[in-house]
Amino acid sequence: MAKLYFFYGAMNSGKTTRILQCEYNYTEEGMHAIIMKPSIDTKGNEKIVSRIGASKKVDYLIDKDENIFDLIVSEYGNVDLILVDEAQFLTRRQVNQLMDIVVDLDIPVMCYGLRTDFKGNGFPGSTRLLEIAHELTEIKTICKCGKKAMFNVRLIDGKVVTEGESVAIDGKNKISYTVACCKCFRLKTNHKFDYEEKNN
Ligand SMILES: [Zn+2]
Repeated sequence: MAKLYFFYGAMNSGKTTRILQCEYNYTEEGMHAIIMKPSIDTKGNEKIVSRIGASKKVDYLIDKDENIFDLIVSEYGNVDLILVDEAQFLTRRQVNQLMDIVVDLDIPVMCYGLRTDFKGNGFPGSTRLLEIAHELTEIKTICKCGKKAMFNVRLIDGKVVTEGESVAIDGKNKISYTVACCKCFRLKTNHKFDYEEKNN
């Protein structure tokens, strides 16, 4: 039986490298894997680019209103595997559609994405995947202090920022990210989880 998989981690944990490797392995075995990603992510446009230099054009960019189940039935009914990069940007409804693909069409779907945004809050796509995926796998990466990095810190022109939209639109400011363990994330961002809960 096919399954819905979610591989999650902080930024720079090697998710894209794994997708490219997986697609390569399938192709080598004579099977057909497709790579999709939500179109909201503009940084690599139609390409997925891994940090170690490998890149590939995605097979399909998913619009936020797209019904992925209908798309697969009409265009990709014979694929052996669906890989989704930047899955945090899917809508909750689209994650439900991926589950329908797994259950009704018996096609495995492997989603890769961030667990949380730079404020430490879940993205809609990743939150839904954490709720319903058959298999959850954390892809671990390391904070500068040596502990496991769980959070993403946004920097603009090298300075830590704590305000802004969870999806950054590239403007004239240079946005970058670094990863941090919980302790370092709180130190860098002055973020108090309890304070946030009280104010929600
Ligand atoms: Zn740390």
